[in-house]
Amino acid sequence: MLPASVLEQARDEILDWQGSSMSVMEVSHRGAPYQSIAQKAEADLRQLLLIPNEYQVLFLQGGATGQFAAIPMNLLGKKTKVAYVNTGIWSQKAMAEAKDYAEVVEVASGASSGFRHIPPEDEWHFDASSAYLHYTSNETIGGVQFHSIPDPFGIPLVSDMSSDLLSRPFDVSRFGLIYAGAQKNMGAAGVTVVIVREDLLGSAIRETPSIFNYTRQAAEKSMLNTPPTYAWYLLGLVLEWLLQEGGLSAIAKVNQQKAETLYRAIDRSSLFHNPIAPSCRSQMNIPFAMKDSSLESSFLLEAKQQGLVNLEGHRSVGGFRASIYNAMPLKGVQALVDFMVDFERRYS
Ligand SMILES: *Cc1c(COP(=O)(O)O)cnc(C)c1O
Repeated sequence: MLPASVLEQARDEILDWQGSSMSVMEVSHRGAPYQSIAQKAEADLRQLLLIPNEYQVLFLQGGATGQFAAIPMNLLGKKTKVAYVNTGIWSQKAMAEAKDYAEVVEVASGASSGFRHIPPEDEWHFDASSAYLHYTSNETIGGVQFHSIPDPFGIPLVSDMSSDLLSRPFDVSRFGLIYAGAQKNMGAAGVTVVIVREDLLGSAIRETPSIFNYTRQAAEKSMLNTPPTYAWYLLGLVLEWLLQEGGLSAIAKVNQQKAETLYRAIDRSSLFHNPIAPSCRSQMNIPFAMKDSSLESSFLLEAKQQGLVNLEGHRSVGGFRASIYNAMPLKGVQALVDFMVDFERRYS
């Protein structure tokens, strides 16, 4: 979901961007007007996340999946191993891709609970000879989220924040690299944000394609080739909206309220349940299932009639999932909760 005001502004500007008589889609990415869009987006992102000066911010293509390969290619250097925390589907996809470039060490895994918990850090098997430690900040499908930043014991910390970047404030300086596809919580598909500490640049393996080479992209200000101009522009509008809303502390409060409202309703219900350990429940993606799965299709159908859509669980897990990203207002969550209570009253 994107903020309505962002979509309205994009609509209003689609034929004529700020008096240019051109759409953003039509201007040259090298021209001054587009450069101002690109630079403003970077400045706003730096302001929102308080990104220190020694970090580069890149706006790339290929999605988070592209980064699954780009990260080992760029950060492996002369090492042979990379370390991953396995918390579910997205960390597994990242690990599978990294295996083509390095030996992947699994430092911890949530498999013993069916990925319903994150193993405590004192049970992790650290490997100090790895080039970096990677974790998935929020497992979008499983609904498992880290609520503190793990200690990587001296090696660079890398995080896939595709589904929770900009949902809450955190200390960027704890990381070597952060990446996120824009389409979950930040904008539209097509642009991927990479925030990388400068001392990690310069050691890409020789086979790294130029467009995935952070050092080259940083030198070219993410314009080594034509960037995803329209997605970058939409991201910029979302960043302006977030600043107007009061920044990340303000949005984090709303996000917490939304998540608490929905979890409370699920936990009180005798029809619905959420299986995730309370200490690592996601505030962004809340999966839930019914004790009686024969009612699932009625639930989805009736929900749709109420305007409550996109509640199907991911095709790999089934059940339901409420993705309550930044742009979802509290009243949207409240409408879902009211419907769930009403549904339960009628069917039990
Ligand atoms: C969606 C998602 C991805 C994959 O993103 P693409 O941009 O489609 O490659 C990776 N990681 C997480 C956590 C995601 O939610």
